[in-house]
Amino acid sequence: MERADLESALPQIQPFVSVIGLGGGQAIDTAKYFAWRLGLKLHQFPTSLSVDAMYGQRSGVRDNQIVRYVGWATPECIYFDYGILDSAPKDINHAGIGDVFCFFTGVWDWQYANRKGRCEPRWPYNEGLASHSLKLAEAALQGKQAIKDLTPEGINLIIDAFKWGGASYHGAGWCPRHIEGVEHFVFYALEARTGIKFLHGQSVCLGLIAGAMMHSRRAEELREAVAQIGVDIRPESMGLTWEDVDATMLGLRDFVREYNLPYGIAHDFPVDRAFLDELRRSVDRSSEHLSFKENDKGI
Ligand SMILES: [Zn+2]
Repeated sequence: MERADLESALPQIQPFVSVIGLGGGQAIDTAKYFAWRLGLKLHQFPTSLSVDAMYGQRSGVRDNQIVRYVGWATPECIYFDYGILDSAPKDINHAGIGDVFCFFTGVWDWQYANRKGRCEPRWPYNEGLASHSLKLAEAALQGKQAIKDLTPEGINLIIDAFKWGGASYHGAGWCPRHIEGVEHFVFYALEARTGIKFLHGQSVCLGLIAGAMMHSRRAEELREAVAQIGVDIRPESMGLTWEDVDATMLGLRDFVREYNLPYGIAHDFPVDRAFLDELRRSVDRSSEHLSFKENDKGI
């Protein structure tokens, strides 16, 4: 997903008249990028629920490993096939909850900035945007069993939130504040530090728990919900070590300032050894749920 790689692939796409994004988040973003650069019609056919990219008009690409959202592509249609979604690995679908629960910590960051008088002038706090995000995230939290089971109801809870998270970024004037915050910043920082290509929702959910702890809001409730749905947030499940996580968290305050990310809890919170130990204890408690997850897969 490096932008330079996508650019160098453009000449191979020339004979075609439309682009179909068939696959997971990277396929969806690649299709958007090609459709935008070549002026082609776009159809999106996500085969998993790993991210909300199918509803966003901009393509998430990397410039030297940092995520940038570029371009403009709106699909003719977005297709979901319950049977195909059902055949995707459950872990990948479950990880989609990261792009839903991020509304909690995103809004909390925005409210924090508002209390501090530090909202960006172009993005003043907007209760309407914030409360709609929270309503969708609460609905998913209430429906966590249906999401774990990936029933049509559970899939629809995720898709309803994706529609909002993906499309309201533009609808709100490219304002990301009601849809992401510290939890995505942790993901960006982890990726920038390690170069690992994560299953998006896993690292976002780790950031969600860390962010909720920073805010001292509902961290245990969200940790339990993430574990019950079946998202593995242990560093080792993502190819990380605790040293990677600790170093990333310790450097988070500098990272969000260096990259001029929207002001939030990460700009101020003093991460120390006690916080890192508490985060680790919290993640370890999630491991208790992994045994039943493995049983679901017949292992
Ligand atoms: Zn995301």
